[in-house]
Amino acid sequence: MSEIRTLKELLAAGRSDAAAITAPGARDLTFDAFRKLVADTIAALNGFGVGRNDRVAIVLPNGPEMATAFVAIASGATAAPLNPAYKADEFEFYMSDLNSKALVVEAGSKSPAVAVAQKLGISILTLTLDANAGAGAFTLSGGEKKPAANPGYAESEDVALILHTSGTTSRPKIVPLSQRNVTASAGNIATSLEFTDTDRGLNIMPLFHIHGLIAGILAPLSRGGQIFCTPGFNALKFFGWMDDCKPTWYTAVPTMHQAILARSSQNKDVIARHPLRFLRSSSASMPPQLIGELEAAFHAPLIEAYGMTEASHQMASNPLRGKRKPGAVGLPAGPEIGIMDEDGNLLGIGEIGEVVIRGDNVTTGYENNPSANASAFTNGWFRTGDQGMIDADGHLSLTGRLKEIINRAGEKISPREVDEALLDHPAVAQVVTFALPHDKLGEEVAAAVVLREGHTVTEAELRNFLSERLAAFKTPRKIVFLEEIPKGATGKLQRIGLAQKLGLA
Ligand code: ATP
Ligand code: MG
Repeated sequence: MSEIRTLKELLAAGRSDAAAITAPGARDLTFDAFRKLVADTIAALNGFGVGRNDRVAIVLPNGPEMATAFVAIASGATAAPLNPAYKADEFEFYMSDLNSKALVVEAGSKSPAVAVAQKLGISILTLTLDANAGAGAFTLSGGEKKPAANPGYAESEDVALILHTSGTTSRPKIVPLSQRNVTASAGNIATSLEFTDTDRGLNIMPLFHIHGLIAGILAPLSRGGQIFCTPGFNALKFFGWMDDCKPTWYTAVPTMHQAILARSSQNKDVIARHPLRFLRSSSASMPPQLIGELEAAFHAPLIEAYGMTEASHQMASNPLRGKRKPGAVGLPAGPEIGIMDEDGNLLGIGEIGEVVIRGDNVTTGYENNPSANASAFTNGWFRTGDQGMIDADGHLSLTGRLKEIINRAGEKISPREVDEALLDHPAVAQVVTFALPHDKLGEEVAAAVVLREGHTVTEAELRNFLSERLAAFKTPRKIVFLEEIPKGATGKLQRIGLAQKLGLA
């Protein structure tokens, strides 16, 4: 296969009449129709003064039109998908932070993004669906007619996609990803998962986050595969969508997998009708027990992968064939991966340090953030902020995030280790361990726990349970019981600032 460095080249893989995009109750969009949609969209954008490297904020509900708009806009300009659930203040922050030139919304959109764009003087382009042409097909209108400075298809070093990180450990940072970055990552994922044009993906991931955009959309398209676009995750609808889509795979975050598993025993017939090649999980750590339960329910392997925004998603993946290690995030699956100490030395097998990466899928740097860039790059390696180690078989395990490590009077405690010990208790469904500010020690260990339905346990009982599993200094001084654990916008548990959020500090 010749090297693919632009989205135009990536879309060329699909067979003319084969379906690229499908959706509940819609006609299929063929690859030929998709390629025409991309060409027409670039021409329309160029006519509204938007060309290569101009940022286009996209505020659309999840679904086929979001998928096609992302690919089409990213092919000739820079796509900046935003979470449609944001409030006006958030839109204002993101649209101005990204220096958006245009906003794309559906005709008749009630999104507060529209008023914000008016206030900021950003041109508003409306997308009208064209159901006859197929799922997600649209036309753009509404902007002021003027020529674009840099028209036509984007080239390999142009920025295809611009996203903010999830903001789990600090203020979200702007990550520009070039055509080369995103197509390399799509190719890496397609290779890991052995995608072909007979694959059908059921996309439940949000399309304003790197995981859904690259693993859900670009990776399967790069091998001529088909995508079934849902309006977004819904555990009640998931098995009905399986019947509509007849998928061969799906990708999700652990919390989604958990909700799907909870309904799997009532849907054994659906699972039997549509055997999956694999299930994929990424973006947060997957409890090994959940991996086993999902594999048993779906009679298919669960492939856990490790991704981040700055790497255009995938860095490592458990192999489809060969040894998978539950609890580890797999083998390097695209970029080179190393483990580095604080002084920038690469470490050896079994040694714990910061995970560093380099490769075509990795951003060249954060935008407008020299201090973050200065600390993120060392000798050509990008520092992920994650802590981990590589074993003798080359498998990477993560031990935590450096910024989340709890520092109790100089003793470093990995909150993940405490999470895992608490999860061993039969009454515990979910847990998040976090730092509690302390006047003398600096930080103390605390944990928030969600119990399994119908179970009860006291704080003292849990601490007693931990006494056989963890050193006393790692045992949480405080354990609080919650109905639900607060999450960030992309569904992640946020340890940093949790003590404040829960009113404990
Ligand atoms: P910010 O960088 O703003 O703090 P964030 O790192 O959560 O936010 P993302 O780019 O969405 O933003 O997430 C990447 C991070 O998610 C990785 O650095 C890693 O900590 C975590 N992650 C991804 N996949 C896995 C996995 N399989 N197991 C454990 N953690 C994972
Ligand atoms: Mg990060």
